[in-house]
Amino acid sequence: MADWKVSLYRPRVGAAEAEAVAEVIRSGWLSNGPVTRRFEEEFAAAAGVEDSVAVSNGTAALHLAFLALGVGPGDEVVLPSLSFVSAAAVVTLCGATPVFADVSGPHDLGVSPSDVAARVTDRTRAIVAMHYGGHAADLPALAELARRHGVALVEDSAHAPATMSEHGVLGTVGDIGCYSFFATKNLAMGEGGAVVARDARLRERIRRLRSHALSVSAQERHRGGPSVYDVDSFGLNYRPTEVGSAIGLVQLRDLPDRQRRRQEIVARYRHELADLPGLLLPYAGRAVEHGAHHLFAVLLPPGTPRPRLQERLAAAGVQTGVHYPPSHLFTAYRERFGCREGQLPVTEDVMERQLSLPLYSELTDDDVRLVATEFRDALREVA
Ligand SMILES: *Cc1c(COP(=O)(O)O)cnc(C)c1O
Repeated sequence: MADWKVSLYRPRVGAAEAEAVAEVIRSGWLSNGPVTRRFEEEFAAAAGVEDSVAVSNGTAALHLAFLALGVGPGDEVVLPSLSFVSAAAVVTLCGATPVFADVSGPHDLGVSPSDVAARVTDRTRAIVAMHYGGHAADLPALAELARRHGVALVEDSAHAPATMSEHGVLGTVGDIGCYSFFATKNLAMGEGGAVVARDARLRERIRRLRSHALSVSAQERHRGGPSVYDVDSFGLNYRPTEVGSAIGLVQLRDLPDRQRRRQEIVARYRHELADLPGLLLPYAGRAVEHGAHHLFAVLLPPGTPRPRLQERLAAAGVQTGVHYPPSHLFTAYRERFGCREGQLPVTEDVMERQLSLPLYSELTDDDVRLVATEFRDALREVA
């Protein structure tokens, strides 16, 4: 691994997580079990919903959401191209067609409700909202659109675990909310995820599909329950482990504190970078108290050579990233669905200019100052 002065992400893990993991190992039960159940209950409580289903990762959460909704061949799902490619991939693997929609604009990188509306057809089964960087997508407009057309609203809330926003707790406004607890996310188990759904029957379907659609779980058999089971649909193994859930429980208790620190860091970045000519800070007009602040995204002045800027910052020990290459321009989507350049002008324009600066709760004020100073210098040099 490179020796960064300031890396793009760093999970906050320590003695409390190590002790929780040791306890799981001493218990002798490693797969989905009582620790996972406790995580599901505490995650649901933190999000203010009745229950949650923990899964092996965020992509599994999205896959289960579309399977439980019955998305299949002949169906379409309208979703942002400006996202991690997971949702588009699992829609395709369900046999359905991902229909990419544009984003609202440079100040709001969430999917545009009016562009989504223009792409809804009688084949549409679901709309996906992704809370870019932990900032709420336009949930009121998207929920109204979904309701009007009788389709499901799925929230890809991978960037925002149990997070209050202007529009309610992210992931809990639509029909199904999907979370990721990958190593770089705000709540980091290494690998992990969760699904919430308002409809209890939908939740039970997701719980069944998570474990081969068995009528009796391995845990119930282990506890002496019936050893013969039935299978009433086609399931997968997307179970989490007790080790991940133990780490998640520790992090969940710490989450409000971590989120507050992210807010402070973002406020500092906004202040330090406020007066750079041509630089645009998406979401800078929103109160720092809202959202999860998973990414600190900037849009570079038009024409800035981003690779050179990133090289210059890397030489100074500052790691940066790009979130995300638009999904519709990946080879697989061009070849399968005929996607092409020019199809989503706002997405394509902002993604040429997007850059993510380091953001995690362990960043010190000195780190933030260093990143801001190096960024200003680098921008001046490459301009
Ligand atoms: C990380 C991420 C995912 C996928 O989560 P995994 O746990 O890595 O499978 C999906 N969508 C978005 C927006 C993400 O950032």
